[in-house]
Amino acid sequence: MSDITGEERLLIDGELRAARSGAVFETINPATEEVLGVAADGGPEDMNEAIAAARRAFDETGWSTDVDLRVRGLRQLHQAFLAHADEIRAMTVAEVGSPLSMTTHAQLDSPVAGLAWVADLAERYAWEEDLGVAEPLGIASHRWTRKEAAGVVGAISPWNVPHQINLAKVGPALAAGATVVLKPAPDTPWCASVLGRLVAEETDIPAGVFNVVTSSDHRLGAMLSTDPRVDQISFTGSTATGRKVMADAAPTLKKVFLELGGKSAFVILDDADMAAATAMAAFTICTHAGQGCAITTRLVVPRALFDEAVEGAATVMGMLPASDPTDPGTVCGPLISAVQRDRVEGYLRLAKEEGGTFVIGGGRPEDHERGFFIEPTLIVGLDPTSRVVREEIFGPVLVVIAHDGDDDAVRIANDSIYGLSGSVFSADRDRAVGVANRIRTGTIGVNGGLWFSPDVPFGGYKQSGLGREMGVAGFEEYLETKSIAEPA
Ligand code: NAD
Repeated sequence: MSDITGEERLLIDGELRAARSGAVFETINPATEEVLGVAADGGPEDMNEAIAAARRAFDETGWSTDVDLRVRGLRQLHQAFLAHADEIRAMTVAEVGSPLSMTTHAQLDSPVAGLAWVADLAERYAWEEDLGVAEPLGIASHRWTRKEAAGVVGAISPWNVPHQINLAKVGPALAAGATVVLKPAPDTPWCASVLGRLVAEETDIPAGVFNVVTSSDHRLGAMLSTDPRVDQISFTGSTATGRKVMADAAPTLKKVFLELGGKSAFVILDDADMAAATAMAAFTICTHAGQGCAITTRLVVPRALFDEAVEGAATVMGMLPASDPTDPGTVCGPLISAVQRDRVEGYLRLAKEEGGTFVIGGGRPEDHERGFFIEPTLIVGLDPTSRVVREEIFGPVLVVIAHDGDDDAVRIANDSIYGLSGSVFSADRDRAVGVANRIRTGTIGVNGGLWFSPDVPFGGYKQSGLGREMGVAGFEEYLETKSIAEPA
């Protein structure tokens, strides 16, 4: 066991407690393979109690109509994260294998700032809108709309950026007046159970409003999707699981919000600053070992400049080796687990079978005996129809594809079942924006611009998802609209 501490207990109906069965499961440091400690292994009976608590808190307390209490609770939660930032940062690096440098933005500080942002939004939000008087059927009527919370939300999250995804669901859902049951990924239970402890011990958020059920069993997520007491599912994970969640939620016609996979394109046009563009593409794929749904994984470059682009990307990827995530200079840490490393290695074998060549990387780094590391890998020579070009790998693996002009680059970028993010580089800003506008994707950077921020909506087109997280749109996902009329 290490000296990093997390939280072993579930949070159900205001009580921090063990699983009813008493079972626990281990959480592992992916950089060292050391057991960090254990988390409660919640079972169906725990999930059942958590859903009942969230239902009761929504139906029988004033939570959903008390904006002041919600704003106060979220601000207290924000302060609690700030007060415990050092220990949570160390725990996050250890449990997620996240490079320390990433905890100052997406892995911790940015989602924590998002709590304050969404509390401010709830405070100033126009909960009612006056639609004036009209005379439908000749009866003069005064009409208005009122925004109301969606009800009980089942939040299901993955392991790659757990605070970001947990808080981008829980913050807006609570701000909207919903109650929540959070079911995190089995690989990162502590990032969620620590959130449960902060809510229970350091906020006025009432019992039952927020519940955390950690578990080694994926089926607890499916319990949320199927249970008629749950009104809405907020899911982030793979597209394959997203399809199951949607099907499971269909019989009870839940609102389903899905943030899924990606295979996003980084498009370089023929007038671009090649060194700047390829450096950014290389840095992006190495970040957190490529374990980000919005990371650009297809580098689409002008055919005439193909070799120059490959050399530029390979040079920078070579400077960002897979390394110890506690080192402040590390960009590429380990993969989350042996299972994920097996999966990525399977794609590396497939790349060879499909005719690809590794420009750099292609396996495990020699200088790490332990930890689930994979070298940053750049692949050329693959056919656009190959599986490695088309499927999400979720590792530090970048494929390079040649394009024959702007129209062809747009066609290649859009030739995917996914549409989550992207990037375009050109010396001509209007030309770059024009190409960005034609790519069917939920977010896109132009000439290095960064969209990631609590106030910017994030989400996917096509099979990358349904709905938007963050921003006003992400808050409104957790609201219903009621229209009311009275005689004028
Ligand atoms: P996953 O789909 O395997 O699991 C995600 C969550 O779903 C976990 O909590 C898991 O326990 C739960 N789950 C598994 N089966 C379930 C079922 N049948 N019903 C309900 N819940 C179930 O994904 P993962 O491996 O944890 O994460 C990696 C994937 O997440 C990648 O595909 C990545 O692109 C995606 N992702 C998407 C975004 C986004 O915002 N679009 C962000 C991060 C990760």
